[in-house]
Amino acid sequence: MPLDILLVEDNPINRRLTQVLLEKGGHRVVLAHNGPSALEILASRTVDLVLMDIQMPGMDGLEATRTIRTRERGTAAHVPIVALTAHALARDRARCLAAGMDDYLVKPVNSAELMGTIQRLGLQSTPADTTAAADIIVLDRKTLLDRVNGDLDLLGEIADQFLREHGSLMMRARTALHANDPEALDYALHTMRGMFGALAADSARAVTEQLQSLAEAGDRDEVAATFTVLERQVGALCTQLAGFAHAAAA
Ligand code: MN
Repeated sequence: MPLDILLVEDNPINRRLTQVLLEKGGHRVVLAHNGPSALEILASRTVDLVLMDIQMPGMDGLEATRTIRTRERGTAAHVPIVALTAHALARDRARCLAAGMDDYLVKPVNSAELMGTIQRLGLQSTPADTTAAADIIVLDRKTLLDRVNGDLDLLGEIADQFLREHGSLMMRARTALHANDPEALDYALHTMRGMFGALAADSARAVTEQLQSLAEAGDRDEVAATFTVLERQVGALCTQLAGFAHAAAA
């Protein structure tokens, strides 16, 4: 039975990836890019499930969830809300549950985790179709391919998206770094980290995490030095992804 799922996610690559995985599982997906538009959608229609990113600019996922639960008060309604978060820490899980969420997924999520959560919430009893992948192997990028369920077109699409967007994101991070704007820097890095996670680019993701910690600690010299490491990694990643995008198009 197809479910109507509201996906609230500000990161374009994670949004697209999750949308496609849900649609491949036979579900219908409504997209929201931020908390306020999610609230607006839910005010005018019902859905079977909400997948809610936690870290978004403006209203975050916790605040959006608290608002949804406040609106439900005094009614029989309780839409299941599952957090999408970059952090696997127990205290983050506790914060999600305290805000009124029902479950919790750590990004990047794969098809099996999504479908498993849907079943665990009792929304779907039959096992979802998570086949499709398997016998396609692109170089040594098994993790990346698993993540897109073996879908080379989708792989090409997200590779293209990264190739289009990494320049402006790096520019935003660099500008924030030079302007000494920690909030803007953290958000640009957060967005990049989400993309690296979706692309299974683990070393770039680790460097970005390190940058976030250094920036939080206020160590500007270290941040500047580590930023050049990230720039090199992004350059290497682009070369590899261009290869994937090409292979997918062929
Ligand atoms: Mn986010």
